[in-house]
Amino acid sequence: MLVFENFIAGRHVAARSGATLDVIEPATGRAYARVSDSDAADVDDAVTAAESAFPAWRALPTAERARLLSTLADLIERDLEPLARAESVDSGKPLSVARSVDIPRAATNFRFFAGAAMHSSSEMHETDSGATGGRMVGRVHAINYTQRSPLGVAGLISPWNLPLYLLTWKIAPALAVGNCVVAKPSEVTPATATMLASLASQAGFPPGVINIVHGRGRPCGSAIVTHPRISVLSFTGSTPVGRWIAEAAGAKLKRVSLELGGKNPFIVFPDADLDTAHATALRAAFSNQGQICLCGSRILVHRSIFSSFLDRFVAAARAIRMGDPLDPSTQHGALVSEPHLEKVHALVRAARDLGGRIHCGGERPSLDALAKWGVPERCHGGFFYPPTVIDGLDPSCRVEQEEIFGPVVTLQPFDDEDHALALANGTPYGLAATLFTQDLSRAHRVASKLEAGLVWVNCWMLRDLRTPMGGFKQSGVGREGGRHALEFFTEAKNVCIQIA
Ligand code: NAD
Repeated sequence: MLVFENFIAGRHVAARSGATLDVIEPATGRAYARVSDSDAADVDDAVTAAESAFPAWRALPTAERARLLSTLADLIERDLEPLARAESVDSGKPLSVARSVDIPRAATNFRFFAGAAMHSSSEMHETDSGATGGRMVGRVHAINYTQRSPLGVAGLISPWNLPLYLLTWKIAPALAVGNCVVAKPSEVTPATATMLASLASQAGFPPGVINIVHGRGRPCGSAIVTHPRISVLSFTGSTPVGRWIAEAAGAKLKRVSLELGGKNPFIVFPDADLDTAHATALRAAFSNQGQICLCGSRILVHRSIFSSFLDRFVAAARAIRMGDPLDPSTQHGALVSEPHLEKVHALVRAARDLGGRIHCGGERPSLDALAKWGVPERCHGGFFYPPTVIDGLDPSCRVEQEEIFGPVVTLQPFDDEDHALALANGTPYGLAATLFTQDLSRAHRVASKLEAGLVWVNCWMLRDLRTPMGGFKQSGVGREGGRHALEFFTEAKNVCIQIA
């Protein structure tokens, strides 16, 4: 059986305790590998390795660090097929998605931040006022420049839904500006992070610059959060864990970026290009089995087109091809784990109890149903859950308020722009929102009133890596992406020089 070990100081090593966890293939429900179940001692080893590597790594010319990042991007592209397959086996996502989204984006993350570090510039402020310390002392002339330095050891924690994509989204900017990293992927999906570690060695990264520690949220993730020699933390995951991290890190005054959950509205006005709106709503609802933080899980449709939209949407949802994730024609794979499937299904049951109408899906398929879907026998123990469409719920009920993070969408009708905005903004979350309209003024007006860190107009998940990524309200704290990430992973210092 495969074993995914930690990667510390340039070597693959078991957890000090020797403990391991099963790694389950979601498509079959069977363990296919084991992963190190690390604790605070392993995290401490990784921090020590990162600290030792830091002085030399930060002293390298930016161009040399960028070259190593670009080489790693090349190696990820070279190994696209094995990485995509590993990601699909590990997470249950269709191989086609891993091939076209997850792995290419991991390579792009390294290439993008290699370029971003090379092109970053610093600020200069010229002082020519007459005041110093509030007292007029005659004319003063000075220049101030902002120097940015790496912080040291960055602690990076990521979830299971886009394993390599999100982990590299943190590793790349942290390294580009001269930090060393201790990164923890989700214990549910450890495969590609382990493969990345080997590629980093091949690329020529010095030992200790990239350290990967595997294990559960507690004790491993929590040891990263509380480690006294980790000064900056970037976390992507659920809101409850993010809240705990904010408290624990706040007590130690650590710098934190939190990318958390969402309950994203997808608004369709009657003047929209409805063919595109339909196709996009379907993709936004069910891509990666609805397990993307940016998924549009609440579809809000103008009342005048509500029932025709719903009928067409349900028909399209029924036609999505569920199957073995490794079959290249599969559109809908397995959910990531049995407990996650249980959580998703519990919310669907709650919707039924609350009077919601379930138009398709809503049940874990029986063996007969799986066979009818064409799911092969090897996958009959897998965590499959079909696209599920619900309407008729009160917007304030828990199913409309809580993140489900599965292939489940709700639809609500709205009467006018104000009503749409009230529904869209009426949850504790504020990660992303999408609106479809051909009215340019309405697009601007509604976009500016949506409480969300990302707003898409007539598109979904179109990402330019230079733009800020992050959430309002309970969806997070801070922004990643482009210069925001480079600033997050550096400490700013103002140097003021008086000119005589
Ligand atoms: P999770 O919060 O359970 O776990 C995320 C990571 O944190 C894992 O590596 C886990 O081991 C670790 N962890 C858990 N408890 C911890 C603790 N006490 N201290 C330190 N680390 C701990 O989330 P998940 O179930 O893996 O992922 C799904 C969630 O991630 C959803 O809520 C989704 O919306 C969110 N997400 C957000 C974004 C975004 O960019 N905003 C992107 C992807 C996923």
